[in-house]
Amino acid sequence: MHEIPFTVFDELPEGLLECEATRLHAILPGPSLIHVPGKRGRALFVSVLLHGNETTGWEAVRHLLRHYADRRLPRSLSLFIGNVTAAAQGRRRLPDQQDYNRIWRGEADTPEHRLARRVLAELDRRELFAAVDVHNNTGKNPHYACVNRLENRFLHLARLFSRTVVYFIRPDSVLSLAMASRCPSITVECGQPGQARGVDHVFEFLDACLHLDHFPDHPLTTWDVDLFHTVATVKIPSRLRFGFGDVEEADLCLLPDIDRFNFTELPAGTAFGRILREGVQPFEVTDEAGREVFDRFFTINAGWIQTRTPVMPSMLTLNREVIRQDCLCYLMERLPLPG
Ligand SMILES: [Zn+2]
Repeated sequence: MHEIPFTVFDELPEGLLECEATRLHAILPGPSLIHVPGKRGRALFVSVLLHGNETTGWEAVRHLLRHYADRRLPRSLSLFIGNVTAAAQGRRRLPDQQDYNRIWRGEADTPEHRLARRVLAELDRRELFAAVDVHNNTGKNPHYACVNRLENRFLHLARLFSRTVVYFIRPDSVLSLAMASRCPSITVECGQPGQARGVDHVFEFLDACLHLDHFPDHPLTTWDVDLFHTVATVKIPSRLRFGFGDVEEADLCLLPDIDRFNFTELPAGTAFGRILREGVQPFEVTDEAGREVFDRFFTINAGWIQTRTPVMPSMLTLNREVIRQDCLCYLMERLPLPG
């Protein structure tokens, strides 16, 4: 089996900051970890482009490193640039690749899992201050931060980015979860790619992280954050044909503007779409323990797929490739803050 070339740089490669995400492959042989020294030694770890089409993180880092072009960073930065080959094509991942944000746990013997173990081993040689993995999504979502541990230091880091914070432990193979045993760690979701507002926000957030001396350990209050818990993942079975709005030749029609439900607390009885054939189970709904829980969250009523309990979805998207490669959405509930 082939190995993915992984390179560690101890300085910024010449010309890198001139490259858009689609051009990084001209300078980087593949996934790369780049150490840039700063005034404080414990590094901020930032990962970008685990999904090749999610360019906001790279744009924000370009902006940040140009901002400090003629002076030292306030704190050292360790930058991981992930799926360079998918980025060259503006894709989340290539068809023959594992998802770069689903490879950070377990013993699986794929080239991507071996890459992940090499990256983590390299990071374990350094002391880290915090870890931030930057993503975009494709539907209408607010900017929000995700934590995989309910610890005050993690929540303070998340709060620096957004007052909307999501706690999840599934999928359990994401980078932010692997980093959580090493330092305060979050994933940030900064809207759709290509928006200047997202780049500015991530730039300001990373700059604030570089200036931070430590993370407070005192509890946050409901004045500080809205905390939600991802309780289930919703997928469309691969054998089903689906569309948006009124389509024929499908098993399942979803509402054409379904992504407006993101981060909205929906009452029971809210329709997601309808099935065009009787007996079709439109969604695979899985809880944190991996159990099938369609009946807990949904019901079919005269062909309409309706929510059975109050829920709040996130990551609903109209992008068919993302739905096929990842999922239709996640379902969340409000969570009290830890004391
Ligand atoms: Zn992503």
